[in-house]
Amino acid sequence: MNLEQRRQKILIVDDNRQNIEVLMDLFQSEYKIAAAINGERALKIAQSDSPPDLILLDILMPDMSGYELCARLKENEATRGIAVVFVTAVSEVMDEAKGFAQGAVDYITKPFHPPMVKARVKVHLDLKRKQELLEASAFLDPLTEIPNRRRFDEIMDKEWHRALRSNQELSLIYMDVDHFKSYNDTYGHGRGDECLRRVARAIQESLRRAGDFVARWGGEEFAAVLPYTGAAEALQVAGQIKASVDALAIEHEGSDVAPIVTLSMGVATVRPCVEAAEKDLLDAADKALYAAKAQGRNRIQTVEISAS
Ligand code: GH3
Ligand code: MG
Ligand code: MG
Repeated sequence: MNLEQRRQKILIVDDNRQNIEVLMDLFQSEYKIAAAINGERALKIAQSDSPPDLILLDILMPDMSGYELCARLKENEATRGIAVVFVTAVSEVMDEAKGFAQGAVDYITKPFHPPMVKARVKVHLDLKRKQELLEASAFLDPLTEIPNRRRFDEIMDKEWHRALRSNQELSLIYMDVDHFKSYNDTYGHGRGDECLRRVARAIQESLRRAGDFVARWGGEEFAAVLPYTGAAEALQVAGQIKASVDALAIEHEGSDVAPIVTLSMGVATVRPCVEAAEKDLLDAADKALYAAKAQGRNRIQTVEISAS
């Protein structure tokens, strides 16, 4: 999802429905709003599939206080990133230091001045958006704007364990642009960069199933992870990727294998078991790619790792 366009969500937590309504009126034209009248319900919403970006949290509530709710949100990895702003009446004895210590980002006191509340909430939501963009960019390759090696390592690890748990096959495709050094030498580094961008996009667009994943693994190398995919199907996907890159028909005079930019590909498939290691799959795909290069490039080589 595009983080810059996503409408942010505010959760209002207060045991007094009137207070909830006042805050709703203030924010509902700009943000998605959810409301909860106690801590338990708030926790459920925070842990749901569409959690809020920010919580406006009343401190004095029966059952679970705002402080306690905040502490529980901060304790849990999944809800830790939600910004918490305490909302409290000036007449209430409050312990600001305690709230900040529990991870709140701000306090707003009642009765409040609406433009002030809006401005402060906006500051925290803008910060949260910036933080998310920064975190997302740490996993993106800046040249091609597809995921980077760091993200690949994470996904690979996750899919390996998932395949192991569910006793499903997992396939991996390594791809390397043929004679790319000579492409740069012939057309210049700028055209080389443009070529990598187009190749990356073509590979990404060839992957149709949810869960299929491709990253720029290094210079002119890409790696795709195909969960729940056996050898025959993986070979088919590799064929589609290859056909898409061929179809770009990017002229490549310096290549001795074709007049256009081509890929060599290594495909490996395994059904993870406790004796096999994730590294075996990576090594197998690497060997297959090496074989594709050795046998003349511009081709797909496969290996299936059988459980020993
Ligand atoms: P082979 O067919 O054996 O793969 O030959 P090759 O020339 O593609 O392989 P080699 O590993 O010798 O060269 C890879 C080249 O990729 C060298 C490097 O300059 C180029 N390269 C790596 N990253 C980038 C990049 O970000 N932009 C551009 N333009 N070139 C890159
Ligand atoms: Mg290479
Ligand atoms: Mg190469």
